[in-house]
Amino acid sequence: MQQGKTQPVVKNVVLVGAGHTHVSVLRAFGMKPVPDVCFTLITREVHTPYSGMLPGLIAGLYDFDEAHIDTGPLSRFAGARLHHDEVVGIDPAAQRVICRHRSPISYDLLSLDPGSTPNTALVAGAREHAIPVKPIAGFLERRGPGIHHICFAVDDLEGMLESLAREGYRLIHRSPVDGAGGRKVAFLHPEAGGGVLIELSEEK
Ligand SMILES: Cc1cc2nc3c(=O)[nH]c(=O)nc-3n(C[C@H](O)[C@H](O)[C@H](O)COP(=O)(O)OP(=O)(O)OC[C@H]3O[C@@H](n4cnc5c(N)ncnc54)[C@H](O)[C@@H]3O)c2cc1C
Repeated sequence: MQQGKTQPVVKNVVLVGAGHTHVSVLRAFGMKPVPDVCFTLITREVHTPYSGMLPGLIAGLYDFDEAHIDTGPLSRFAGARLHHDEVVGIDPAAQRVICRHRSPISYDLLSLDPGSTPNTALVAGAREHAIPVKPIAGFLERRGPGIHHICFAVDDLEGMLESLAREGYRLIHRSPVDGAGGRKVAFLHPEAGGGVLIELSEEK
């Protein structure tokens, strides 16, 4: 990256996606700027989610701002340009990224941190039993904050599962599995709970 000790070769660093790594890069760069190196962040969402707080956001423990990092002030802190846009292509020969809404942006060095998008078609049972969380912005748009699931404490989990199965309720677990805190747990399919995921839990 350095030609001599004071002559950086890289002038224009383009960051695609405001994922966790790029957030850290901008923070570090703001704290210790490198002369003659300019950062440009292109991100589809200006407010990038902090995934570790997502369960608390869904449960209503945090609001949107608490669980998201605003890349506006972060970019200003880092002296970086911010483009709210989606990258739809890369032209490595011309060293340009192609954006959905603006003219191509040139780079000397390109870094990609756009996160992941799970393909539920590749995992057996994922479509029926799982809800893809990534990209988080899309998940929040579809689901919004609310209740993730309801848990009931029961005395005889095995007996309860048998009787629910007899009555035709759709179960995720037909017999108890190990749950948090040393408890035996079992989940009912949301179909059995009018769209709500239900957990049954018995102290061992
Ligand atoms: C509930 C939950 C808890 C987690 N807890 C942990 C944990 O404790 N520890 C841990 O290490 N990991 C944890 N993870 C995993 C963690 O979220 C991921 O490893 C991390 O988010 C990956 O970050 P990322 O930087 O790859 O992308 P993301 O955080 O997904 O960010 C991607 C960014 O790129 C932008 N973007 C995407 N496509 C484009 C495009 N084409 N053009 C422009 N911008 C684009 C998006 O707008 C977004 O800002 C957890 C995940 C979840 C869901």
